[in-house]
Amino acid sequence: MKRWRAAGRDTPFDGRTVVETSQLGAGYAGMPVVRQLDLRVDRGEIVALLGPNGAGKTTTLMTLAGLLPPVGGEARILGSPPGRRAHLLARRGVALVPEDRGLFPGLTVAEHLRLARPAGPADGDTGGRYAASVVEEHFPELGRLMHRACGLLSGGEQQMLAVCRALATRPAVLMVDEMSLGLAPKIAERLLSVLKRISADQDMAVLLVEQHVHMALDVADRGYVLSHGDVVLQGDASYLRENRAVLASAYLGGVALS
Ligand code: ATP
Repeated sequence: MKRWRAAGRDTPFDGRTVVETSQLGAGYAGMPVVRQLDLRVDRGEIVALLGPNGAGKTTTLMTLAGLLPPVGGEARILGSPPGRRAHLLARRGVALVPEDRGLFPGLTVAEHLRLARPAGPADGDTGGRYAASVVEEHFPELGRLMHRACGLLSGGEQQMLAVCRALATRPAVLMVDEMSLGLAPKIAERLLSVLKRISADQDMAVLLVEQHVHMALDVADRGYVLSHGDVVLQGDASYLRENRAVLASAYLGGVALS
């Protein structure tokens, strides 16, 4: 593995590869459920992390986000080991949209967005000006729901809010877990296209865990398929899209194919 560039707590990271793991183990209580994971995500790139239920996708995201300690190997995110420092990573530009969305039912849309301070050195944006611009440009529906409690929103509106709140932190790396779960395909496609646009415009890296495999591969640049904690297939999204049989076999059999 290449030498890591050291990154201090508040030092902006200027490397191209923002997520890189080498033989990473991820799991619980010291027991790996993901083994020897070599994964890379560059700026401006969307990488899909795919695989059947229980493959270890969420566990991987939680480890990279600093919510679970690694159980072997190495990982660097924005140049530093994630350790168990989710709050510091968030301040430096790592955003996670968890599978349960992590919203507060009693808080309004506006209150959620007010909490989303852009990452990096303080730029005085305590009033959520950047969040307001993200809403205006990408989620105009939320603009009409600003004073509604989140618990009263539809599933699609809640997911828009969860994604919008993460984007409002202006992340360098966005990790999204099962964004399309329970959503109408049209809304899921719309959210994915927003991620695609922002990733391209702002050089944001996206690590996407998705059950809607083909929808994910339509926006992704590259993909990895995990099965029972091992990478059984990886490649360019176009290759994975065009070789459905290979992809299906990786899902069903978990046999190492390439
Ligand atoms: P899904 O699509 O169902 O969410 P996944 O690929 O995200 O699947 P994980 O949630 O990462 O899979 O789970 C991987 C393995 O880790 C599973 O066998 C699961 O039972 C186990 N696991 C998940 N959470 C815990 C936990 N808190 N403690 C122990 N084992 C866990």
